[in-house]
Amino acid sequence: MSNSNTESPVTPMQDVRPSSSFLRDQIAEDVRTKKYGDAVVQTRFPPEPNGYLHIGHAKAICIDFGLADEFGGKTNLRFDDTNPEKEEQEYVDSIQKDVRWLGFEWDRLCYASDYFGQLFAWAVQLIKAGKAYVDDLSVEEIRAYRGNFNELGKDSPYRNRTVEENLDLFLRMKAGEFPDGSRVLRAKIDMSSTNLNMRDPIMYRILHAEHQRTGNEWCIYPMYDYAHGQSDSLERVTHSMCTLEFADHQPIYRWFIEQLGIFPTQQIEFDRLNLTYTMLSKRKLLQLVQENRVNGWDDPRMPTLAGIRRRGFTPEALRSFCAAIGTSRTNGSTDIEMLEHYQRDDLNRRANRAMAVLHPLKLVIDNYPEGEEFVEVANNPEDAAAGTRLVPFSREVYIEQDDFREVPPPKYYRLSPGKEVRLRNAYFVTAHSVVKDAAGNVTEVHCTYDPLSRGGNSPDGRKVKSTMHWVSAAHAISAEIRLYDKLFSKADPNDVEEGGSFLDNLNPNSLEILSKAKLEPSLAKGKPEEHFQFERVGYFCVDRDSTAEKLVFNRTLPLKDAWAKIAGAR
Ligand code: ATP
Ligand code: MG
Repeated sequence: MSNSNTESPVTPMQDVRPSSSFLRDQIAEDVRTKKYGDAVVQTRFPPEPNGYLHIGHAKAICIDFGLADEFGGKTNLRFDDTNPEKEEQEYVDSIQKDVRWLGFEWDRLCYASDYFGQLFAWAVQLIKAGKAYVDDLSVEEIRAYRGNFNELGKDSPYRNRTVEENLDLFLRMKAGEFPDGSRVLRAKIDMSSTNLNMRDPIMYRILHAEHQRTGNEWCIYPMYDYAHGQSDSLERVTHSMCTLEFADHQPIYRWFIEQLGIFPTQQIEFDRLNLTYTMLSKRKLLQLVQENRVNGWDDPRMPTLAGIRRRGFTPEALRSFCAAIGTSRTNGSTDIEMLEHYQRDDLNRRANRAMAVLHPLKLVIDNYPEGEEFVEVANNPEDAAAGTRLVPFSREVYIEQDDFREVPPPKYYRLSPGKEVRLRNAYFVTAHSVVKDAAGNVTEVHCTYDPLSRGGNSPDGRKVKSTMHWVSAAHAISAEIRLYDKLFSKADPNDVEEGGSFLDNLNPNSLEILSKAKLEPSLAKGKPEEHFQFERVGYFCVDRDSTAEKLVFNRTLPLKDAWAKIAGAR
């Protein structure tokens, strides 16, 4: 069931704040009652640097930064870097770049690893208070002792060690005396809690691994659940927004905060973004990269911010989309077409138009004189300020193969022998003959033009049923065009046969490369990430692989807006 797209799409760009929100209501209430005195609203965005950010993170970022901003507060960017085996500097760098690209600037840049010393001191404090113990059970045994929903947990035989023994063992864990996995530090909470997370959660594990920031200073690392709440507290985060799967962990964070008597951060959960035809799990996205199923984290088919940015998506459209989906207290799924709708809407407003022929067929205008002329064309009919440009026209132009049929099927209004059509902004032309190759394929169409129809209208008021884009053959530039389609062919990529994997649902046709496209010459000046609407074809942007010798364009989206239809049908 969809919960997030039942509203009709709002006009984007006017308001990039999440529309209605229990999160906002809660913050407003806390500000009104001065729950945190005169402290400003403080939020944070806490990614683990174990992969690139994806569209789901964009939602969280818009919430964390957007709400703080609304209340005149501040947002920290905090790396939850407690797992050195999976974390890398490349991810730390990419995350900062992507947050800024999305249009947000953090107040403080923080790292959970900056708090390792404090977290260790607090662990010692909890041991001394009899609230934590060193356990020698293996991770598997701990899991078995934990029980499940129907079965109470069992105390570890090490649960009642003395404070002295616990302290001694923990200090020796830190000193590196024990091998990985031989012992852990656990919080002494309640082995019969109905919340499994509260059954003596692990606080520290032994891991002789080099950390990207602290090097070899530590061989014990705090668990996420031990580090997260106190990191929030240390930064005096007033409102810690996170996704619903952390709701069951909130009691742990509160327990530590209460035991330690430190700043009481309020956690509030909201729904994860799930998008149809899209995988939003860093672990699985990493697998796609590692197995070379895509060309890296910024492959334009990836739902990463780096990927969709390269594809031609814009921060403005993403923020509008995030505002429109809002937040909910139950998880649902959003149609990918809705995201695409917001993207088209943004590009329609801002992208300059240009003419490009993806599958060229030569059209020869037999009665056109030698030489060339220039027609003046509006760069963007939605934006007069975008100005005009001169497009060269001459005796031979390229049109799309699809725009000509020697034998037209019923209701085919484009060019065919004897039929008159408009070449956009130029002239009326009427086809009369074709040239074919040995195999019988049409290689050239011959036509005549009406010199009085310059600009695209005939003084006698004659009407034509079709207007076609074109590129002057003598002036055309060549480019590689990369056409992208959905990366997965199933709406739910995780919907697989027993024993199968999400990889089974990869769309084998997600990338098509066209090498014969002909473009109007002004496109040679396009800069990487510059957006265009190729008339009648779609939205495109210059890829960063593009060079003066070899231009490369990515298709962001075709023109057709399926969401308008879906929304209309509701
Ligand atoms: P993944 O499951 O993709 O690995 P994660 O939740 O482990 O994601 P983190 O780096 O821990 O990734 O996430 C940082 C923040 O982004 C968290 O507060 C998390 O709640 C939020 N977040 C992650 N995925 C989504 C999503 N799909 N929709 C909304 N928020 C998300
Ligand atoms: Mg995580």
